[in-house]
Amino acid sequence: MMLNLINELWFLKRDIVSDGFDQALYRLAEEVPMTIHEYPTGELCWTWRIPEKWTCHEAYLETLDGKRLIDYANHPLHVVSYSLPFEGVVSREELLRHLHVHPRLPEAIPFVFKYYERDWGLCASQILRDSLQDEAYRVVIKTIFEPGKLKVGEVVIPGESRQTFMLVAHLCHPAMVNDDLTGVAVSLEAARRLLAGAQPYFTYRFLILPETIGSVAYLSHNEHLIPDMVGGLFLEMLGNDSPHALQHSLQPNSQADRCLASAIRSLDNQCYSGPYRKIIPNDERQFNAPGVRVPMLSLSRVEKMAYPPIPYREYHSSLDTPEIISQERLEKSCQLVLKLIQAWERNQYVVNNFKGEVFLSGYGIWIDYHTNPEGSLRLFEIMERCDGEHTVADIATELAISFQAVWEVVEIFEKKGLVWFSRIPQPTSPRR
Ligand SMILES: [Zn+2]
Repeated sequence: MMLNLINELWFLKRDIVSDGFDQALYRLAEEVPMTIHEYPTGELCWTWRIPEKWTCHEAYLETLDGKRLIDYANHPLHVVSYSLPFEGVVSREELLRHLHVHPRLPEAIPFVFKYYERDWGLCASQILRDSLQDEAYRVVIKTIFEPGKLKVGEVVIPGESRQTFMLVAHLCHPAMVNDDLTGVAVSLEAARRLLAGAQPYFTYRFLILPETIGSVAYLSHNEHLIPDMVGGLFLEMLGNDSPHALQHSLQPNSQADRCLASAIRSLDNQCYSGPYRKIIPNDERQFNAPGVRVPMLSLSRVEKMAYPPIPYREYHSSLDTPEIISQERLEKSCQLVLKLIQAWERNQYVVNNFKGEVFLSGYGIWIDYHTNPEGSLRLFEIMERCDGEHTVADIATELAISFQAVWEVVEIFEKKGLVWFSRIPQPTSPRR
């Protein structure tokens, strides 16, 4: 399903407010029950304003004797997203000021957008740019700016609690795949599988939106939901051949950060994590920002040490095609997201029914420190933190072990009646 959807939608002209974006979103809404929110052009969203709808009807670059060098009909990246219209004969020098190329890939067309800084522009390969030797060229860019509606798709999985975990992906990168359709496909597949399962404890909201302005539009129109947002995960770049990277939120000690980071440790041994903004900045910025402050992490596949410039080779170029992704990697990422959600659901305070050290051999759970010194020490270290003030993730973080390693032990304790799980702290030791 994920790869089929990507093949169907990737080449659409999915600019932030555009017919192509809407077409992709409506198609996705056929896959899962989705509410589509609309925000009209000009509407104020905190310090931002919803931009116009943008359409490019035709655009090309020709020699003066009519030889066509660049044609928007061949590739949506040939025109700067939100380019002003322009028609005329320009000198080679002026043309080059408006002709963008990729900084690293000479054969690729770059992805260039100027949503708020209005200018006209075309994009081409470095190879084509280098071949331009004439004195003058003809440029035709027929674009239209008009009132429209920015769209945000929302899939809600109601939980027992109103406390909400947000999952966000953006859809506004025309004719590119890994950034950003893979995050959309993985999040919708995860939503579908969650919807097919038992009711979760937390409520989950999945948002599909145009980057930055879509998050600002949604948050500014749903301020009443913000206090219930207890964590989140942004998803993109999940099809390429790079290791998973978990980027922390602005609050690295939050339960969301502790839980996801300790859980991922044993789920994918290639995965690494990094601080906020240092792997790849995206929509999680709007959720972590002042006045919102949701601890939202992000999951992507990014080469280690890539920050700041190159998350993966084909990034923001016409080479970001279905060829660089695989169904197998999408499936692995989807399963990883679901396992992280499972850990999040399980992350409760561990409350002791016991006082003092547990008589482990009496309960049949003693580990011989002669034959298994590590296991024995870990059992004690976990047991002494079961005090109604530590969550599973807190214990895992303190001990620098995986969420699952703690879970396996406290689950046995729970079956033996030694502990119980609480959504809120339940301190059992005297306050001093
Ligand atoms: Zn991008």
